[in-house]
Amino acid sequence: MKVLFAASEADPFIKTGGLGDVAYALPKYLNELDVDARVVIPKYKTISEEYLKDLEFVKSLNIWVGWRNQYCGIFKCQVGKVTYYLVDNEYYFARDGLYGYYDDGERFAFFDRAVMEMLKEINWKPDVIHCNDWQTGMIPVLHKLQYKSDPFYSDMKSAYSIHNLAFQGIYDSNILGELFGWDEEQFRNGGLEFHGGVSFMKGGINYSDKVVTVSPTYAEEIKTPFYGERMDGLLRSQEHKLMGILNGIDYDAYNPETDKLIFKNYSISSMKDKKINKSRLQKELKLPVKAKVPMLGLVSRLTPQKGIDILISILGRILQEDVQFVVLGTGDQDYEEHFKNLQRKYPDKVSANIKFDNQAAHKIYAASDIFLMPSLFEPCGLGQLIALRYGAVPVVRETGGLKDTIIPYNQYTKEGNGFSFENYSAHELETVINMALNHYKDKKTWEGIMRSAMSSDNSWERSAEIYKKLYKELIQ
Ligand code: ADP
Repeated sequence: MKVLFAASEADPFIKTGGLGDVAYALPKYLNELDVDARVVIPKYKTISEEYLKDLEFVKSLNIWVGWRNQYCGIFKCQVGKVTYYLVDNEYYFARDGLYGYYDDGERFAFFDRAVMEMLKEINWKPDVIHCNDWQTGMIPVLHKLQYKSDPFYSDMKSAYSIHNLAFQGIYDSNILGELFGWDEEQFRNGGLEFHGGVSFMKGGINYSDKVVTVSPTYAEEIKTPFYGERMDGLLRSQEHKLMGILNGIDYDAYNPETDKLIFKNYSISSMKDKKINKSRLQKELKLPVKAKVPMLGLVSRLTPQKGIDILISILGRILQEDVQFVVLGTGDQDYEEHFKNLQRKYPDKVSANIKFDNQAAHKIYAASDIFLMPSLFEPCGLGQLIALRYGAVPVVRETGGLKDTIIPYNQYTKEGNGFSFENYSAHELETVINMALNHYKDKKTWEGIMRSAMSSDNSWERSAEIYKKLYKELIQ
């Protein structure tokens, strides 16, 4: 089976968020399952030299973007078993950032058509083209409206993954002519029209053969107005082809037994060594070195999505207890300032690290006793999965992937790998944090919860099997 994974970013070349992680890990694990899964991304200027130097030039072609005839270079390279294709055009992609330019619509209209044209040029015929987020949303549209009549493309199927429903690639309706050379029929018949504009994401949802999002609960939630970002009606109308598949985490990169970024390696059978990570981090962050004081960790973008409002409103009270709070994150300035002020006010209890720092993140996962993730919404969430693996017991809100991966601790059956609350309420968050802190005092109970956290299975192997089955069903 052959699958082309089309995305606007993929680790290890370039990554700004969860999509980059998935576009790296899923093809890697699919190849382990004997699926020839290849990846195509734009060749950005900011890809590190380490990877650029191994690229092999395959060929060049011309791509029509509306009336424009643009150069397109195809490069190729191999990372492990995975073949990557990189689509080159310096005018579109040799910029400092990835997204947020006035002509993003044109840039990705170019990329989407280049992906379709490239396949015939290199004579590689995937069974399924798996597209991701709005940037590749027009690929299924191009396929159905233009390319399917060509025998080379006619048997191909398309899948479309939603990683972030909030970004919908909405442009003026005149782009249909300007960037695709089409008349306004697709606008008038509602296939692409979205609140008076044209949405690439709507195209992906409407024209693909299967729509996937990154957790089963989120797949249900986005059909409601609260989570649906104005696309809930569309998603309800397409629910026959919508499903949720949980992301995993890369068990090689996140393994407390071998992780080179943490102070002391440990595993489920040497959990006491986790304490060394805590004392060393306390020392590094200039917090009092105390083994028994519970450390609450937060590694997150500091945005309203992540539930920072409700956390902030109760932290003052939580900090009256004998606890330490370590935050690592960047985002809204108000939140950043609030955490810095808290550190000034409680220097013995709070460490505010306002930066993006991968090693610091690993150290915090390894050192924390409790990991906070009270999100307003969370399509899948990786933070809680990493925390589980490192025995930092998650406290989460029951939404999206958090609901699907965290089983609340039940003191009677002793089952559960974390703590959770239902409503987006500061009061409920405070109650579960206090519940977790109470259980922490009982060493035996806490070790049981840590053990069940650390033995939770969130590897990519399991999810890759589900994707393989989905592809098989599509091409049957
Ligand atoms: P999202 O993709 O919505 O930001 P996820 O939980 O899915 O949230 O993934 C966030 C990832 O980014 C996790 O791997 C987390 O550890 C990492 N991360 C978030 N903030 C930082 C930071 N300031 N420094 C380092 N890593 C971070």
